[in-house]
Order: sequence, then structure tokens, then C-alpha cells
Amino acid sequence: MGETKYIFVTGGVASSLGKGIISSSIGKLLQARGYNVTIQKFDPYINIDPGTLNPYEHGECYVTVDGHEADLDLGHYERFLGIQTTKANNITTGRIYKSVIDKERRGDYLGKTIQVIPHITDEIKRNVKLLGTKNKFDFVITEIGGTVGDIESLPYLESIRQLKWEMGRNALCVHLTYVPYLAAAGELKTKPTQHSVKELQSVGIQPDILVLRTEHELSTNLKKKVALFCNVDENAVVQSMDMPTIYEVPVRMQEQGLDVTILQKMGLPVGETPTLGPWRDFLDRRHKATEKVKIGLVGKYDLQDAYKSILEALSQAATYNDRKADIHFINSEKLTNENVEEQIKDMDGIIICPGFGQRGIEGKFIAIKYARTHNVPTFGICLGMQCIAIEFARNVLGYADANSREMDEKTPHNVIDIMEEQKAITNMGGTMRLGAYECVLDQNSKTFEAYKSEHIQERHRHRYEFNNDYKQEFEKAGMKCVGINPESDLVEIVEIPTLKWFIGVQFHPEYSSTVLKPHPLFLSFIKAAINKG
Ligand code: GLN
Repeated sequence: MGETKYIFVTGGVASSLGKGIISSSIGKLLQARGYNVTIQKFDPYINIDPGTLNPYEHGECYVTVDGHEADLDLGHYERFLGIQTTKANNITTGRIYKSVIDKERRGDYLGKTIQVIPHITDEIKRNVKLLGTKNKFDFVITEIGGTVGDIESLPYLESIRQLKWEMGRNALCVHLTYVPYLAAAGELKTKPTQHSVKELQSVGIQPDILVLRTEHELSTNLKKKVALFCNVDENAVVQSMDMPTIYEVPVRMQEQGLDVTILQKMGLPVGETPTLGPWRDFLDRRHKATEKVKIGLVGKYDLQDAYKSILEALSQAATYNDRKADIHFINSEKLTNENVEEQIKDMDGIIICPGFGQRGIEGKFIAIKYARTHNVPTFGICLGMQCIAIEFARNVLGYADANSREMDEKTPHNVIDIMEEQKAITNMGGTMRLGAYECVLDQNSKTFEAYKSEHIQERHRHRYEFNNDYKQEFEKAGMKCVGINPESDLVEIVEIPTLKWFIGVQFHPEYSSTVLKPHPLFLSFIKAAINKG
């Protein structure tokens, strides 16, 4: 296509309007037209990456194949586009400053005074263009975290202003705002949008396209008014209504010609509108699936975003099994031997969630014991797999004090132990076993039946591992180690073959489940849950 085109997505009025979904939808529509597209997220906080952030701050930490701990929006990009993102797709202010300061210490700036403008903005601009130049993408979509008007966003906005100036038609700004509905007045209000656009204009950026989040249909007159007051073409004002599923958004955007407007503004041929066939088939199937499959999520956070990718993987797998995922949070801190039956007996299957630290762990053991002894389909992920092993050691092997070294450093039965290479590590950020590793499956296992392949690659994020000293004992007592890393011999998957579906995985399969390619283990788990009987 020639030169890479850059689309910036900014947000105004309020946070949590769904910039990630809009960026992903734009990406999807351009990709459907045959373009090679990637999306990156720039976060204005000082952390180097979100790896050390508590889920209450920024939701789950997503992990890329190359082992970067990333913002959860990268999960949306991958699920919508079916692409793989990398470390270069997620930049924070912390990383920008670190790289500028490292250059300064090396003497690269030859005696200059280092300032926000031009040094920080130049570094931001370099990072904006990095993927485009290196990988020759046709489009690089850059989502800017935060809300216009935040002090910390300013260097990013200044960089966008400069890039727009330098690139002309090859750069474009999509601004997402919110149009509130005042019930008492019965009116939709555009003033916050006008203010937000003024804020952008005050730093020299004229948005090219406005996407208005709204809970009510916007009239043509209202859109005309916004266009007039904000210096934007009428066909460049697009509404984004609340949808029953986020996967509906690309279709709604296409109906309003958002992709056509983008192509026209960037001087590209428009051609025919792609049909989005498989995507629409997925949506049809999703709408038709009304029967529910009830899944209990056993974890310590009753917070949607903390388990974002797991929720999405479950709901995708449910759709492909013609069911609607009915997901219930089961707070593991509140689980007791007395209430476990009442909490789990109606579930078709349970997930034992990933996590760190002691809080809520005993409840996970209680849930696992109930599920194991009542043959409830159970899927343990990362810490969930470790808990499955610990519960087995305690209640089947008879080691009442079995534990992970993470929870009890002195446990005499450390069935989960710290990995050798982790022992000397003192820095918390970016030092876990991260990213994709190979795993070889036992052909005589449910896991193999699901994957239909002996060699798999899955993403990891952990410091502790199954202790191989106990392997034989586990296997003799009925828990099989069916997935092994061929290089390190680490146990990646355990399974109780005599139960309907009882599998624990040390990795995070949820990160690689996408709309058009749901993850085989989630598909197989949901199928087992449906047939629970
Ligand atoms: N806390 C465990 C470990 O570090 C599991 C991590 C996780 O669930 N992601 O090994």
C-alpha cells in the first residue's frame, strides 16, 4: 500500500468508554478489507508495565507471546483481529522516560538539556512509528490511554499533533466521547462532547472523526449539531450504542460507514464493503444460543476486569457450543465446608482462577475438593492448577500440610515449589516465567483429545512450579502429568482421567482464545459442562 497510515484513538469526557473496543473494531474493519493492521496502546502512567499492578487498578494483566506483561486492551486487539501483539504494542510513560534517561546516562544527547519537548515527545513519536517501520503494517492504530485533559496525557497529545502535522493525510485522529442522557429533562446532551473537542483543539489537534458513546439512539439533527460545533464532517460523526455483546460493535461501525470515512480521509480507494462473513456467523450463533451453561469462577476478585480474558474465552467457547455462558463469581474468601455445596451444586463446571498470594486460597481447596468428589467439570488455571495439585496432595496423598512455597515457605510437603531460576530474583517487575513455551502432550489424555496435537505452545506468567519429586506419587494415586515442557521437564498440565473433566494447566490458555479461533481447552471444558448430567 506504500506508506504506513497512522490512526490515533483518544478519549474524552469520561474513562471506560471503550476506546479499546473502538480501536479493535476499526482494526477489524480495515483488516477485513485486506489491510495488514496492528494496534498499540500507550498508557500515560509511570509504571514500566502493568505487571506489578493490582487488578483493582487496571484489571487483568495480559501476557503477549513474547513475554510482555501488558494492558488488558491488547487482549481485545488479539481477540478481534486474531493477531499476535508484542512488547512493542504496549508503551507506558515509565518506559518512555526510562529509555530517555538511559540514553542521557549513555551520553547520547551530547550535552543537551533533556526536556519533555522535544526529548520525551520524540521518544513517543519514535515508538508510535516503530511497528509501522519495522513490520511494514498498512495501518498502525494507536490508542492513547486516559482522558483528554489529564495532565499526564499532554506529551502524547503533543506528539500526535506533531505527527499529524508531519504526516498529513497519513495520520488521523478518532476521538471517542460520551453523550449523557438526562432522564429528568428527557434529553441527550452534547455539551460535554463539545468541551472535550475544545480541549483537544486547545492543544492543536482537530479530531477527524468523532465516535459518540450513548445509551440512546442519536438523531440526525444531534449529529449535525455536533459536526457543526466541532468542525467535523457530518458523516464523520458516528454513534456507538451499548450492545449486548462487544463483538457487535464492528458491524454497527461498518453500518455507519466508519471504515469508508477513514479510507476517504486518508486518500485510499474504498472498493466493496466486506461481508464480515465468519464474524456475522459467530454473532448469529451467539444470538441464537439461549440455553445457558452455568460456570462458577472461583477466585478472590469479584471484579469483571480481573478475569477479563477468562470471561471472554468462556463466552466464546459457549457460543461455539450453542450455549450462553452464565458466569457466577464465587468468592473463594467466603467459601467454607458448610456453604460449598450450596455454592457449587448448581454449576455445570467451575474454573479455579489464577492469582498470587495467600488470600482466598483455602476456599479454592474447598471448592476443588467438592468438585473432585462430586465429579464437577473443573478447570484450574495457573494458581488454579497449583491448587488442584495441593488439594490432591492433602486429601488423597494424605499430606495435610502440603502447600506451595509461595504460601508457606517452610512446608515439609512443597508439592508446588519455587522454580530454580526464580530463587535469586529480587526485582518483582517482569521477572516471572513469562510468554510462550512449548509443551508436549500425552496422547492418552483428555487434553490431547481437545488439542488434537502433540506439540502446543502456551503463554505463562508464574514463579512457582509443580515439584517433580512428587510426580510418581501423584501418578500412582490417579493424577496424571499429561503435559511436559520438553526442555525444562516442568509439569505444565495435570489431569484426573477417571473424572469427567478435571484438568489443571500451569499456563494461561485464555490469552490465546479469539472470536474466530476459540481455544480448544475452553471448548472441551464447556462441552463437558453441558454434558455434566
Ligand atoms: N502465584 C503463582 C505463581 O507465581 C501463580 C501465578 C498465576 O496464577 N498467574 O506461580
